[in-house]
Amino acid sequence: MKRIVVLGGGESGVGAAVLAKQKGFDVFLSDISDLQEQAKEMLREHAIDFEEGRHTPEQVLNAAEVIKSPGIPDTAPLVAQLLRKGTPVISEIEFAGRYDRAKKICITGSNGKTTTSSLIYFLLKNAGLKVGLAGNIGQSYAYQVATQQYDIIVLELSSFQLDNMYDFKADLAILLNITPDHLDRYSNDMQKYINAKFRITQNMKPEDYFIFCSDDEITVDHLNKIVLKAKKLPFSQEHTEEQGASAHEGQITSKYGDDEFKIFIDELALQGKHNVYNSMAAAITGQVMNIRHEHIRQSLMSFKGVEHRLEQVGKIRNVLYINDSKATNVHSTWYALETIKTPVVWIAGGTDKGNDYTLLFDLVKTKVKALICLGVDNSKLLHDFGDKIPSITEVRSAAEAVQTAYHLAQSGDTVLLSPACASFDLFKNYEDRGQQFKEAIRKL
Ligand code: ADP
Repeated sequence: MKRIVVLGGGESGVGAAVLAKQKGFDVFLSDISDLQEQAKEMLREHAIDFEEGRHTPEQVLNAAEVIKSPGIPDTAPLVAQLLRKGTPVISEIEFAGRYDRAKKICITGSNGKTTTSSLIYFLLKNAGLKVGLAGNIGQSYAYQVATQQYDIIVLELSSFQLDNMYDFKADLAILLNITPDHLDRYSNDMQKYINAKFRITQNMKPEDYFIFCSDDEITVDHLNKIVLKAKKLPFSQEHTEEQGASAHEGQITSKYGDDEFKIFIDELALQGKHNVYNSMAAAITGQVMNIRHEHIRQSLMSFKGVEHRLEQVGKIRNVLYINDSKATNVHSTWYALETIKTPVVWIAGGTDKGNDYTLLFDLVKTKVKALICLGVDNSKLLHDFGDKIPSITEVRSAAEAVQTAYHLAQSGDTVLLSPACASFDLFKNYEDRGQQFKEAIRKL
């Protein structure tokens, strides 16, 4: 019996182990950290051998194939050893894809993946299709392949997941944008990161579709260098596309063959320039999937959005509070500030991933009246914005940030948590940061 070793016992690892077991492999799961109780229960329930708190080399190196969690880099000693031996190391998505007959709609990009994946899932589900949502979101893909039957699967893919995908093929791939992120995992080589993102197009055939943002220079440059067999459908807010989506005078026009779909930008449920892109990608997908225009329109108009992404928490004394805790890089924050039309009390900071704040200077000068730094080390924010924002305060908790914002904001202002940084200095993760922010607002 072929031995499959799963490295990492998080959501994707446990799902992969369950699917592998179901397919009759000899499965072993190994995690260098302790496993969650729930994970252990699931493994026991499926009679899957596992170890936690260590990797035992003899138990791992004898694998015929290894499924690796996207969190483990190729440079981890054990992985490096496996690779030297020539053992295939794949991602959970690659493995699950082998057993899935559903049409695969795959979404990647530096920003907007979760929003766009959720929107497309919502759109297809509303249209009555048998569709699932997986990847970097919710229940693992492998577990869903093991337990569900879908006609279509919408997959949100990070570059780390794409890294270990080889034979997998998307039927429809969406690349939203490419901006520098996670470069530490790509030896600070931007090209390596671009190549990882473009893996979403690998193995595509002429009958497949590639949907991309033609305003994104990095994407377009790379596209000019490669041979891609799939049909290309661009979306743009800067120029008119013959096929694909364009924005003109407040209206989106999306063309696919002879089919032409139109919607006013004001009608979109998701506001902001970045969400116009996300909605365009969803509209084209809807057309390719042959969804009726009323259904596409209805979904684009009624989608509620995803938590922690420009989420409107509420209005107090005519001040709107927005939770954009998921904005963990400068680009996301740029879109948040761009979207807001009122004066802003901006809460930012956390673990800096090498941020270049110059991108924000113009928007900050015109919109931000106060900055509240929510981080352990705020020196960079203080240095870069000291001469650009009239009021700057440092705080150490979400509650303190909200209290301070409450006193600084005047009727008609917006309080925006859009940190441009990771959250690990003061919070468990960005969800925790967003939850604490919302909790503090509720207490006001
Ligand atoms: P991801 O899953 O790629 O991290 P999300 O959908 O969770 O993306 O959105 C993260 C943040 O990125 C949001 O807070 C939003 O401000 C910003 N964002 C969303 N869509 C886009 C886009 N198309 N281009 C640039 N920024 C975006």
